[in-house]
Order: sequence, then C-alpha cells, then structure tokens
Amino acid sequence: MRNICMFDYDVIIIGGGPAGLTAGIYLARGRYRALLLEKDLFGGQLKNIEWIENYPGFSEGISGPELASEMINQARRFGVQMEQGEVVGIESFSSTRLVNCADGKGYTCAAVVLAGGSRPKKLGVPGEDIFQNKGVIHCALCDGGQFTDQVVAVCGGGDAGVTEALYLTKLASKVVLVEATPALTASAILKERAFAESKLEVRCNEKVLQIVGDEKVRAIEVTQTITGKKERLQVDGVLVHVGIIPNTDYLDGTIPLDEAGQILVNNRMETAIPSIVAAGDIRQASPWQVAAAVGDGTIAAITVQRFLQAYAVP
Ligand SMILES: Cc1cc2nc3c(=O)[nH]c(=O)nc-3n(C[C@H](O)[C@H](O)[C@H](O)COP(=O)(O)OP(=O)(O)OC[C@H]3O[C@@H](n4cnc5c(N)ncnc54)[C@H](O)[C@@H]3O)c2cc1C
Repeated sequence: MRNICMFDYDVIIIGGGPAGLTAGIYLARGRYRALLLEKDLFGGQLKNIEWIENYPGFSEGISGPELASEMINQARRFGVQMEQGEVVGIESFSSTRLVNCADGKGYTCAAVVLAGGSRPKKLGVPGEDIFQNKGVIHCALCDGGQFTDQVVAVCGGGDAGVTEALYLTKLASKVVLVEATPALTASAILKERAFAESKLEVRCNEKVLQIVGDEKVRAIEVTQTITGKKERLQVDGVLVHVGIIPNTDYLDGTIPLDEAGQILVNNRMETAIPSIVAAGDIRQASPWQVAAAVGDGTIAAITVQRFLQAYAVP
C-alpha cells in the first residue's frame, strides 16, 4: 500500500473561487492535508459581483464579496491551508504530482483539483488594448465608480453583461448595452429589468467596430449587423463582457482541452490523468454559475477522496 505522507500535501487545489473553496471544505473535513493556491484574491469572481440572487439559501440574495468571505472562513475553519501563488505548471512523476508556482516554489501531492475559473474574453477591436484602464473595464463593481454621471457602453447582452449594465445605471447618467445577436441572451428576469430601466438603452443586432479616444475613451463606433449602417456613439467608458476564457493556458500539453481551452472531464470531474480533477467554470460545458461551481467542487472532492483512500496507511 502506498503512503500519502511522502508528499508535501495530499491534495493541491488550484484556484480560490467557489469551486476550489468547496473542494477544500470537503477535503479538509475528510482530514486530508489540502493546500489551496490562489494567484489573486481568494473568492474568485464572487469578489466582483454586486449582488447574487440565484444562489440557493439566500432568499433576498447576497453580495458577492459577503458570500466569498463566508466560503473563505468556512474553508479556513476546517483547516484548508490557503496560500498566495500562481501555478505555472504541473509535472507528473509516477504517482507524484509536482505543482510549480511562478515564484519558483514547488509542492508535491497525490492529487490535484483544477479550479482556476475563467476571465473575460476580449472584444478584439481596435482601441481595446490602448484604452485598457483608460476607460475600458471588465468589472463594474471594481472600476465602475469612475463613470459617475457619465455615459458608459456595455458590450455583451448575456447574464454577466446585463447584470453589470444594471449596476452601472446606479452610477452613470446613461448606459448603452450593445449586443451583436438579435436579442439579449440573459435570463428572462434580467431582460425584464433591463427593458424597465429608463437609464439603459438596449441596442441589439449591433457590433462594436472600434473604441476611439485621445488620452481616454471618447466614443465607440458600431455597425448594424443587418444593414451594415455605421454610427459613432459618444461614451466615456466601455465595459466588456462578451464571454469568458478558461484559465488553462499553463495546462496546454498537460491534459486534454477542447478547442475553447476548457478541460475535458467525465461526470466524476476526472480529467484524462488519474488523480487530476477539474471543477467550475474551467471545465467543458460548465454553465458558468456559482451553484454549478459549488456542485462541481463537491463532486471533484468526493472523487479525490475515493482516490486518496487507496493510499491510506492501515
Ligand atoms: C459580472 C459577473 C456577474 C456574475 N453573476 C453571477 C450570478 O448572479 N450568479 C451566478 O451563479 N454566477 C454569476 N457569475 C458567474 C460566477 O461568478 C462564476 O461562474 C463562478 O465564480 C465560477 O467559480 P470558479 O470557482 O469556477 O471560478 P472563479 O470564480 O473564476 O475562481 C477561480 C480562481 O482561480 C484563480 N486562478 C486562476 N488561475 C490560477 C493559477 N494559475 N494559479 C492560482 N490561481 C489561479 C483565479 O484568480 C480565481 O480567483 C457572474 C460572473 C460575473 C463576471
């Protein structure tokens, strides 16, 4: 029988969002030595969400940062070791996994949970890079304050885009929501709120061609997808939410990914490598929701527990 004590940790969790924190809670309660590595803020995307209404258990909703704090405290209470560190690679030596970090540190373990989540996709238009943080933003809660009493364009009519646009209406004088498809793709309740909000102008069938300005954003140029007609809209800022990219760059060549870069898993959240599981936004076909990330983290942890039981010293 193999012995997990020969590793630095029984399991290493990469990513401190809802998926990683949930996996950590389960594994620490199973008395496994769990290290959770986070490159940025513990809590993941929750830290940037003003209010979450569809996570069960909170009848009036809960603020993202508050939900994040509760999950972080719960993980700490059960003994998850949480450290700052950006993982840049995973090596496999027989039954050992070596997790390498950007600061040069490396940790060995028997199992790995990949829970690195996602980041916003770019629009891919001229001006987007030049005006990054000079009017182009990706998070209303973090950066929206600069647009108080100004005009902001939000690109993307999905759940995240509409949520961000509605938040910005509390600050900005006007919010223009630009969506390339014929209708908003957000859930019905968000669409109802968007159309009821007098400060929000919804423009479907329109694509942003470029972001223009001088030392800061001054306007966006849009084109109608049906007629091809172009128009310049005066705005002071642009928030981009046109989809997400999984944080799997460092895994390319380590485990199979799909064409979008998402990790292929089976229904136990196992990847092609035994003892490496994935959970949350990072895996193929994720619905990109907190409740789903928490569910994935639970499944991944149970799979890891079963795997680690094979190592237990009698
Ligand atoms: C504006 C907005 C509003 C949203 N609103 C809702 C909502 O109302 N309801 C809902 O259910 N969902 C909502 N979501 C989606 C929800 O936030 C995500 O589905 C959820 O956070 C995914 O959890 P996760 O743990 O998979 O990933 P994340 O929350 O993305 O966490 C992953 C963590 O991993 C870290 N990480 C990444 N790579 C590495 C690495 N190499 N090394 C170390 N750490 C790494 C990241 O820094 C991050 O902290 C919203 C998202 C946005 C952006």
